[in-house]
Amino acid sequence: MIKFLDLERVTAAHGAEINEAVSRVVNSGWYLQGEENRRFERNFADFIGVSHAVGCANGLDALILTFRALIESGRLSPGDEVIVPANTYIASILGITENGLTPVLVEPDPVTLQLDPARAAEAVTPRTRAMLLVHLYGRCAFSDEIGKICRDNDFLLIEDNAQAHGCMFGDRRTGSLGIAGCHSFYPGKNLGALGDGGAVTTGDAELAETIRTLANYGSSKKYVFEYCGRNSRLDEIQAAVLDVKLKYLDEDNDKRRAIASIFLDEIENPAVTIPPTPDMSANVFHLFPILCDRRDELQKYLADHGVQTLIHYPIPPHKQNCYKEWAHLHLPITEDIHRRELSLPISPVMTQEEAREVVRLINAWK
Ligand SMILES: *Cc1c(COP(=O)(O)O)cnc(C)c1O
Repeated sequence: MIKFLDLERVTAAHGAEINEAVSRVVNSGWYLQGEENRRFERNFADFIGVSHAVGCANGLDALILTFRALIESGRLSPGDEVIVPANTYIASILGITENGLTPVLVEPDPVTLQLDPARAAEAVTPRTRAMLLVHLYGRCAFSDEIGKICRDNDFLLIEDNAQAHGCMFGDRRTGSLGIAGCHSFYPGKNLGALGDGGAVTTGDAELAETIRTLANYGSSKKYVFEYCGRNSRLDEIQAAVLDVKLKYLDEDNDKRRAIASIFLDEIENPAVTIPPTPDMSANVFHLFPILCDRRDELQKYLADHGVQTLIHYPIPPHKQNCYKEWAHLHLPITEDIHRRELSLPISPVMTQEEAREVVRLINAWK
């Protein structure tokens, strides 16, 4: 069987070093907010190309803490509008609504599946103050047009980089392009922990400090509380594991690209559409989405032939019960993507033989 993602193999690929890192922390007697966090935060900030990284408990917290810190520092106010792609994972939108900010759902470009700059420009109102750009599927959603919209409107640009660790825009990493980059280290992400984890990257020292304080009960000095904060920490074991895996991230992303190249070059079935990838460095292939009108049939056929696939995502945010107030919205491009999207297996440990088997099955499908 070809698994969607074989995490056992992903961990085993760097198993000796990961085990060594875990034992080091176990034996150190120090499990939170220590040397491992400091080292990983330093190395991750360098990797992304910014001066600060702040570890936290997960990707959703990275988003919630970032928007909260922007409110606490007076750069955003509750009720302000934040442009966000309509076709994203729910966490992107929760990060906005949890802070009393108003998401403005903008339809993606139907070819790239990323936020459409022209539609984003049309959605701007006098209350719009920020844009949450999601590098969905590991593809760079930033462009000169997006940069221009942010500059022209004086927007704060926040990046949801949960799916795009290592992705480039020119010679810069995603996660370094705006005021803050929000990262998840959920085990299945390109840089995944052995449990939950997250981080915010920023070049703004004050923002980094506010996020660190908010994540520590609102305290920067022991038993003194400036904000009603939360407890959101990256633990030392996860930081140590992430620091090992970070060293191999570019290499692992290249292995994903090698699998993706096989799919891009060899899948030839007129019933299947593959989003084009003009610049391979602008895609770290967290997922490999294809579009197909008979998506559910194709998924069942692949499952019957031993290939696991997933749908990202079956129901768009505006059709979820948690956001009933948007049930009336009609977002045809987003709805169409959710109806036709299928994610093929892809990972740094998938073999070329496995990729060719997936290609063979798809090309034989009628
Ligand atoms: C995974 C993910 C998140 C949330 O990360 P968690 O660590 O699971 O909280 C946020 N945004 C996107 C786009 C994601 O894929």
